[in-house]
Amino acid sequence: MPALSMDQIVSLCKRRGFIFPGSEIYGGLQGTYDFGPLGVELKNNLIADWWRTNVYARDDMEGLDAAILMNRLVWKYSGHEQTFNDPLVDCLVCKGRFRADKLADARCLLHPDQRPGTCEGRFTEPRDFNMMFKTAIGPVADDEAFAYLRPETAQGIFANFANVLTTTSRKLPFGIAQVGKAFRNEINPRNFLFRVREFDQMEIEFFVLPGTDEAWHEHWLQARLDWWASVGVPRERITIYDVPADELAHYSKRTYDLMYDYPSIGVQEIEGIANRTDYDLGSHSKDQAQLNLTARVNANHDSTARLTYYDAERKTHLVPYVIEPSAGVGRGLLAVLCEAYAEEMTKPPAPERLTAVGEALAAFLKSVGRNEKMSPQQRDELLEQGQSIAAALPERLPAVETLLAMPGADLIDLGKKLRGQAQPLLDEHYRTVLHLRPRLAPVKVAVFPLKRNHEKIVATARQIRRQLQLENNMRTVYDDTGAIGKLYRRQDEIGTPFCVTVDFDTIGEGKDGSLTGTVTVRDRDTMAQERVAIGELQGYLEAKLRN
Ligand code: ATP
Repeated sequence: MPALSMDQIVSLCKRRGFIFPGSEIYGGLQGTYDFGPLGVELKNNLIADWWRTNVYARDDMEGLDAAILMNRLVWKYSGHEQTFNDPLVDCLVCKGRFRADKLADARCLLHPDQRPGTCEGRFTEPRDFNMMFKTAIGPVADDEAFAYLRPETAQGIFANFANVLTTTSRKLPFGIAQVGKAFRNEINPRNFLFRVREFDQMEIEFFVLPGTDEAWHEHWLQARLDWWASVGVPRERITIYDVPADELAHYSKRTYDLMYDYPSIGVQEIEGIANRTDYDLGSHSKDQAQLNLTARVNANHDSTARLTYYDAERKTHLVPYVIEPSAGVGRGLLAVLCEAYAEEMTKPPAPERLTAVGEALAAFLKSVGRNEKMSPQQRDELLEQGQSIAAALPERLPAVETLLAMPGADLIDLGKKLRGQAQPLLDEHYRTVLHLRPRLAPVKVAVFPLKRNHEKIVATARQIRRQLQLENNMRTVYDDTGAIGKLYRRQDEIGTPFCVTVDFDTIGEGKDGSLTGTVTVRDRDTMAQERVAIGELQGYLEAKLRN
């Protein structure tokens, strides 16, 4: 079963070093997150997989890495200066700021701190707010010396269309893929990585002959759904939103939004696949009147180039149409984590111990209900989470950890008692596990020495670790800080597909001489253990890590 609430994911990410709030030591910076030791590995693996599928596994694609800072005129002619706006409203009472198009109610629903109920304030009329960040170029920050941080990677591709075409001699149809940072001054950054101000995009601009665009749009819709399934976000968890005409972006003839059902957040866009027609190449071209453009482009008197393609068959220069699959790395990573997340009971706990936890949980919730110090919102959220656990014991017992990490939980003294009752059961009978595709897992292999001070065991284990990581390119960690059971659970929680244990048999000092030179390999998903010869370890792991 995938994650049931975003809190489970947020808590795991913080606890284990996937993702941290940005600038935390100075109180944070809203809408920014930092990827920690495990997060950076997972993110890199997801991007590498996207690149492999979309660039290496196809014959019709090139890569690009364009600059984040671009000439201001790019954003003038792309239409972003004019139209990259969100409608903004303020609450007249609490001064909260919102995107008018995302409001569910005509009155403000913010919970004012320490007071019951919602604010109920009325809103100002919506006004347009341009979401591009500005920065100064050079030492004098006057009106002429500014540039924008790119709000999408796409324009770097359009601006380089002619460069790529002439240097690669590509024929239509072909695409250009790019992964990189984008910046948007979101009015309301929220929901963890879902809506942030700085994020990574994985974008493809696929150039096609006009007239073939609709078929290619369908092709990319299917290709992208297949990729999401291949990284663990199954087809049935994504809905396709065929964006109605009155909601289409200014450049789009038709757009399919892929919508994923995020826990706690709901059904939201993970990727947009747009038919951008000849709008972008046309808008960035000179001599527009001679190009037979179909899109309503921005009149351009600054461009030095005609962004056209010579169609040898028809003996004519034409402006290609463009299909754009555009995905956010962060939103993708969240979906992958949610799908991979599971809390599993490995063997049922004794009934009397379960009863004791149930009682400690009930006492904790009673105390939450009476607490005056926390905000009503915190209280409601704690009660809701706690009651859902109480109703589904023993299966949901692991969620106690999430409960105790929620805001406000630290104000309740009985939390310590609850933890004291729950922790030993969790350690013995449960595991949290990320069933990540092995090729995405941040750590591929963990190596454990059965005895931490035994010279020969330690040397062998360290040698295996070095070999796998440096020569075989698998991110491998060495851990000797606990009993094997505990070490397994720690690796399960971060999705490590394989644990390798070096024991006395490995070094020829065990009971069974036939096991000399072999190690125990434990599989994360099945928890099955196998003896594998050290010499065969690399091949054994490599085959499985391709999945
Ligand atoms: P939304 O309507 O949710 O603001 P959008 O339609 O503006 O999204 P696009 O311009 O289509 O988004 O951007 C393409 C992809 O970039 C999105 O599908 C999403 O995955 C990602 N993305 C866009 N804005 C953000 C953001 N603020 N934080 C994280 N990812 C984002």
